[in-house]
Amino acid sequence: MSVVQQGSLWNWPLHVWQLRDISSACSNISFGQRDSIGWCRVGGAFSYRAAWASLRSSTPVVTWAKVVWFSGAIPKHSFCLWLTFRRAHLTRDKLQSLGILQQSMCPFGCGQQETIDHLFFECGYTKTVWSKVMELNNCPLPVAWNWHTTVTWALGHAIGRRFQRWMRRAGLAAAVYHCWRERNNRIFR
Ligand SMILES: [Zn+2]
Repeated sequence: MSVVQQGSLWNWPLHVWQLRDISSACSNISFGQRDSIGWCRVGGAFSYRAAWASLRSSTPVVTWAKVVWFSGAIPKHSFCLWLTFRRAHLTRDKLQSLGILQQSMCPFGCGQQETIDHLFFECGYTKTVWSKVMELNNCPLPVAWNWHTTVTWALGHAIGRRFQRWMRRAGLAAAVYHCWRERNNRIFR
């Protein structure tokens, strides 16, 4: 706590905006050399968990959270799947619209434009991967091959405690991750 005290004066770090309210609230409080500072919470003991929860901005849990984050998931697969649900992958259609690329052709050589829907799993190449995963999970093939139908399927068939459900969401995460990785290999190597 000596960080915020200097002699008998307050020394709150100015660059930490989360501390500004506390800093101004303390300005009229003087302290002696033998005082010490500690954290406490109104109505209970201090915990880092509660402190973090009060500092961060939070939004309601999304419906697909349990498809992405679950016990036994492979973290890098989950992260990649999270990006896909957020439609955050920098696919070539986005890069072209930003003026970074001249064209947005799919790197798997199908002649189509690379979009999230195309990559997962409209493209002939990734469709083969995803249909194999579906087959191994004893699931019927989708009527339409795009990310939207994949999400609808996952929400209805890949959430739950049964091992079969676990396999489906682990399979989805692995398929998305490896398709994205292969796509990057083709572009960058
Ligand atoms: Zn393609």
